[in-house]
Amino acid sequence: MTISKNHRLLTLALVGAVSVTLFFAFVLLDPPRTWDSAPTMIVDNRGLATVIDSDGGVAATVQAITSNQAWNGAGSGTVINAQAGSVANFVLGDGQPMLNFQDPIHACGGNCLAATFTGFFSDRGDGTVRIDDADIVTNTRNIDWTSQSEDPNGAGCSGEFYIEGVMVHEVGHVLGLGHTDVSGATMFPSVSSCNNDPATTEKDDEDGLNALYSGGGPTTPPTCLDPGASCKRNQDCCSGSCTGRGNSKTCA
Ligand SMILES: [Zn+2]
Repeated sequence: MTISKNHRLLTLALVGAVSVTLFFAFVLLDPPRTWDSAPTMIVDNRGLATVIDSDGGVAATVQAITSNQAWNGAGSGTVINAQAGSVANFVLGDGQPMLNFQDPIHACGGNCLAATFTGFFSDRGDGTVRIDDADIVTNTRNIDWTSQSEDPNGAGCSGEFYIEGVMVHEVGHVLGLGHTDVSGATMFPSVSSCNNDPATTEKDDEDGLNALYSGGGPTTPPTCLDPGASCKRNQDCCSGSCTGRGNSKTCA
C-alpha cells in the first residue's frame, strides 16, 4: 500500500470511479485481519534529514501515531503503541513492526511518499485472520519532509510533506485498513504538500477501525455535541439541553 504525493492525478482518477459506484466508505484489507494485541512500532531513531526539528521528526511521529486524535482515540481503545529505537535489524515479516525513515528495499519511489508491507498474516483457526507483522518504509530520495514542530501552522511550508499525517495514514494500513474513497479521510490515498489533516482521523476512518477492533475501549471519545452545535434532541448535547425551534435548534 502506498500513499501518493500526486494529489491532482489521483483525484481525477477517483472521480471517474465514484461516479459509477456512488459509494463512499472505508475499505478493509482483504482478507480482513487484526492484531491479537496492540503492537509496538519501533520508530527509526535516525530521523529524517529534511525535518528541521530537534530530532528529525522522530518524537513528532511517535506522538502522532499514538495520539488520541488518531487511531487510539477512534473508539477501540489503544490499538497502536510506538517508541523510538534502532531499525538496524529491519526484516520484513519478522514479527517486529518497524517504521523505517529510509527505504532499504527500494519499494517506494516516484510519487510514493511511504509504503507499508501488509502481507504478513495467518489464520487463527476460528475463521479470523491475525496480522503477524507490518513494516513501513519512507521515500527520502525525492521528498522534502516537515513536521508540526518544524512548521506548526504551515506558514513556512512550501512543497514539503508533513511526516505526521503520512505516518498516521501508513499506520492505518498496519492496523488492517485499505484506501477509502472519502475525500478528507486519513485513509484517502493521496495528500497535498503542506497538508497535515491526515494526522487526525475522520469518522470514516474510525468506522473502519471499529469494524475490525470492535468493543470499545478506555479511550472512547465523547459523542456529545458542544454548545452552539446544531442538535435535534436534548441527549445530543453535552449540556443535556437542545434549545430553539424547528431546524435551527442548538446545544445550550
Ligand atoms: Zn495508503
